[in-house]
Amino acid sequence: MERNDLARQLRDIGFSCTRCGECCNGTDNLVMVSPEEIEQLAGETGRAADALAEPYPECIGIGDGGSITFEWSLRKGESGCSFFSEGLCTVYASRPWICRTYPFMLESGRLQVSACPGIGGDISAHEAWELAGLLLERRRAEQQEEERVRRVLATARIPPGCRVLVDGRGVKVL
Ligand code: SF4
Repeated sequence: MERNDLARQLRDIGFSCTRCGECCNGTDNLVMVSPEEIEQLAGETGRAADALAEPYPECIGIGDGGSITFEWSLRKGESGCSFFSEGLCTVYASRPWICRTYPFMLESGRLQVSACPGIGGDISAHEAWELAGLLLERRRAEQQEEERVRRVLATARIPPGCRVLVDGRGVKVL
């Protein structure tokens, strides 16, 4: 999708963050993260990667009693994301792609919109252009990770009956 077209769609839908914090506070909305994003957050916060992220809970059965989970999600505390404090994201500059582009995402070449009180709000042409650029960058980053995962899967030896996590860096038995 062209950036101009995407920016036009974003302006038509409208969006202005109301700073309600619902996207960060919720305990059921998961923030999927790649190994690179975990590394970046670990470097910035000094927290261990395992303390930041956990295997994404959804998995696919592979027919021998085993299953595959793809990628990771940020660990959540009792009241949502552990990086959310006093109404602010404490890792704002290096927050994951999902957070940078919420409530939008590109899927199969189409713009998808999640529920959010900011939808329909005023967005300037400049803001829409910037957000369109972020969405396209996010999609490129996701496609690169998907390609790495495909390469890992092409040669992976998955032990029978095990639940494993596959990301662009390899296979981990859980
Ligand atoms: S990383 Fe920041 S923006 Fe993303 S869910 Fe956590 S507090 Fe919110």
